[in-house]
This record gives sequence, structure tokens and C-alpha cells, in this order.
Amino acid sequence: MKDVFDGVTGRLAHIKQRIGLSDSEVKALLEPERISRATLKIGSDNLPAWRVAFNTNLGPAKGGIRFHPEVSEGEVKSLAFWMALKNSLVGLPYGGGKGGVKFNPKGKSKDYIDKVSRAYVDAFYKHLGENIDIPAPDVYTNPEIMGVMLDQFEKKIGQHQPAMITGKPLELGGLALRSDSTAKGGFIVIKELLHHIEGISAQPSVAIQGFGNAGLNIAKMLFADGFKIVAVSDSSGGIYDKSGIDINKAIDLKKSGTSAIDFVGAKITNEELLELPVDILVLAALENQITAGNADKIKAKNIIELANGPVDFAADEILWKKKILVVPDILANSGGVIVSYFEWAQNKTGNILEPDFLEKKLFDMMEAAWHRVYELFKDRNDLDLRTAAYSIAIDRILRATSARGRMK
Ligand code: NAD
Repeated sequence: MKDVFDGVTGRLAHIKQRIGLSDSEVKALLEPERISRATLKIGSDNLPAWRVAFNTNLGPAKGGIRFHPEVSEGEVKSLAFWMALKNSLVGLPYGGGKGGVKFNPKGKSKDYIDKVSRAYVDAFYKHLGENIDIPAPDVYTNPEIMGVMLDQFEKKIGQHQPAMITGKPLELGGLALRSDSTAKGGFIVIKELLHHIEGISAQPSVAIQGFGNAGLNIAKMLFADGFKIVAVSDSSGGIYDKSGIDINKAIDLKKSGTSAIDFVGAKITNEELLELPVDILVLAALENQITAGNADKIKAKNIIELANGPVDFAADEILWKKKILVVPDILANSGGVIVSYFEWAQNKTGNILEPDFLEKKLFDMMEAAWHRVYELFKDRNDLDLRTAAYSIAIDRILRATSARGRMK
């Protein structure tokens, strides 16, 4: 398989003239600041692990840790690069970070997961810290894992430092708002999008790929707001009902340990779900779900990238020609890192801020980011939403680089 990072370099090479980047700027942007590698020894298993930091001119690196059997260095690099752009786009004082451990956590005991979490910190703690690189949950990691990682980190450094990791349990300084903040940000963006486009049904139809933290929570919000969710899927497959799925019932079944596909409704494969003729297709699973191989078959009017990198570089062009709007990951899923920033700031200062105030601030920051991107998209007319978002994000990174006197 091609290295996932090839998609990152290919996309930048493609848009560089349109957003006015020089060769040396592209080179500087694509150069990771740090790639740390380790092999975690858990019993007789050897698990490859990575932590990558990109461009910290705006502040410490920030981004999640993924436990997944398909994690690769190229994937972690790509995710860290996208984090640098995302943090910049929404105005946070962070560079890009990401980490991963290559193993399948499904079916593994709590004790095994605990050992992996502690071994990860043992391997990388010198490169982590509230002013260095701040992890958070990502695919198949959660607040409990963040709590164990914080504990191991504090053991290593011999002092408390809750701001070194976000998405923690509430007892350790986490925020209740963090648990569904990625979905909340995506929901705000969908509502804005619907204000600005025409031809959407009164009760917009939605298909959602991925039914974890991001996908399940946005399904809940859209359902409560009156959207018609016709299909959802997880790694084991999907369900489809063209008259609409009762999402609360699907969630109850999922929580009881039953896969969403055991819920009433016709079974549908992930491939079929992607090709449904819906108003909104929400991608909330993994990267490279829409590629040159299936982009032509996509019938959704709009795509929301709640996952990171679900539409690849080759598919962008095809969807643009088909006039399908793609709200890019660095905008659509930035609610998670915005609330992680609130958690970090609160942990660092010791201030305790009102949940209502933070919720309003999340809303304001998402709206502001949406307007920045949408206005450039409208003004320029020749840029898709992703290129507009990249242009704004890259400009802020380059200005920070220049303000440090580091621009060559
Ligand atoms: P999660 O582990 O909670 O859920 C992942 C979901 O995707 C699960 O339902 C899983 O069954 C499903 N899935 C996996 N492979 C699939 C496949 N091939 N087809 C369909 N479904 C599949 O993870 P999450 O936190 O919801 O993350 C999902 C995406 O959102 C990732 O790309 C992640 O990087 C991105 N994201 C998450 C956050 C966050 O705060 N959780 C923030 C920003 C971006």
C-alpha cells in the first residue's frame, strides 16, 4: 500500500501555486520536527509505536494517540501534519502532534491496555509535557487511557502536571464538554453549511460512517435536531432505513454490547453506505474512505469529514467536478482540540471556568473558523473548502515562523 503521507505531499504540491507557496515554504511545512519510534514489549508481544511533532512555531505540539492494528509511521505523520493545520486554522497556540501504537485493542484485557499505555509513556515521556507535546484520545483510546498515561508520566517526572494530556477523566482535571466536543463542532459546522447552500430537503437526510466517539455523538445531535439519519455503520458493517433510524435505540443496543448492525433495519456494507444519495454524508471512521476508486459513485450532496483524512487527494478533484462540497477535517472536527485547549488552559492556570462559558466559547470559535474559510471560498471561487482552509492555516504558521525570525 502507498504511504499515507504521499497523499499529504501530493496535495500540497498540487495546491501550492493556487495559494501562493514557495518551494522552500512547502519543504519547511512538510518536514516533521520530531519522529520518535519505539517497540513496546508487552509480554511476548512487540508493538511498534510512534510519536510525531510537526511545526511548533505556534506552540507545543498537540494531538491524539491511536491504538489500531493498521497504524503506520506514514499515518501518524499525516495525522500530526493535519493537527498542525487544524490548530492553526482555529487559532490555537499549538503545533501538530500525533501518536500511535500498532495493535488491535479489541478483545484485549484492561490489564493489557494498561500496560500498553504505561509502556507508551515510558518510551516517549521525554518528548511529552504541557509545554512540549500534549496527547489526547483518538481512535480506540479514551479518557481512562489518558488517566493511566497521566499517572505514568507524573511517576516519571516526580510531580503533578495534569496539562500534559487532555481528554482525561473529570476526576483528573478533564472537562465534561470534551466527551462530545468533536461532534458538537461538526454539528455547528453542518448547521452553518445548511444556512449557506440551496437544494437541501426540509428534513435533510444523513448517512454516517463510524459509530464511535465522533460518529455516535453527532448522530445523537442530528437526530435530536430533526435530521433524518438513514444509515449508520461501524467496523462490522451498517444498517439502512430510508424512512429514518431511531438513533437513541441504536445507541442503547450498541451500549448493551450489540453491534449497530444487529439493530432492525436492512444491512448495508460500508461501501454501499458511502454511495447513498443523501443530503449529508458524515465520515467519522478512518482515512482514505473516498478515493479515486469510488469518488465517481458518490451521490451525497455534501460531505462532512469528522474523521481525519477520509477523502484522499485524488478524490478531492473528482468531487469538486461533481460539485459535491467537502467540509474538510481540519475545520469539521476541530471542536475536539478546541475543548482540549480549554482543558489544558484550565489545568495550567488552576482556574475553573463555567461549562456554559466554555460551550459558548466553543460555539464562537467554530463559527469564526467556519466564516474565515467560507468567506475565502466564496471570494476566490476557484478554491474548494479544503484549499481555502489550508491557505488560512498555512498563512498563520508561516507568519509565526517569520515572527520568530526563522524564515529562510
Ligand atoms: P472511536 O474509536 O471512538 O470510533 C471509531 C469508529 O469507527 C468505531 O465505531 C469503529 O467501529 C468505526 N470504524 C472503524 N473502521 C471502520 C470502517 N472501516 N468502516 C466503518 N466504520 C469503521 O474513534 P473516534 O474518536 O470517533 O475517531 C473517529 C475519527 O474521528 C478518526 O479519524 C479520528 O482521528 C477523528 N477525530 C476524533 C476526535 C475525537 O475527539 N475523538 C477528534 C478529531 C478527530
